[in-house]
Amino acid sequence: MATYEFLCRRDGVIALRLPGGQAPASIACPTCEDPARRLFGVPQVQRGDSRSRRVIAATEASASEPAVVSAPLGRRRSPTRRPTADPRTAMLPSP
Ligand SMILES: [Zn+2]
Repeated sequence: MATYEFLCRRDGVIALRLPGGQAPASIACPTCEDPARRLFGVPQVQRGDSRSRRVIAATEASASEPAVVSAPLGRRRSPTRRPTADPRTAMLPSP
């Protein structure tokens, strides 16, 4: 038996113990049933706690599979406010 890791885009890293050499390239996530692709790494070597591994896996995944957002983050600018070219006056109240 060997421990294989799979990455679900919603739930993060999933660790499964399977017979050696028989891990599929992807599985259905046990939580959301989305496809989770296999992560390749050095077997049986700890690379930090599970939270750290999730962050590292998500960061690596964002290089080739960036998350898609449905709306811009943060507060929208008021359309009546005129943008200023001078950054020194950008934070001053507008007339
Ligand atoms: Zn999932």
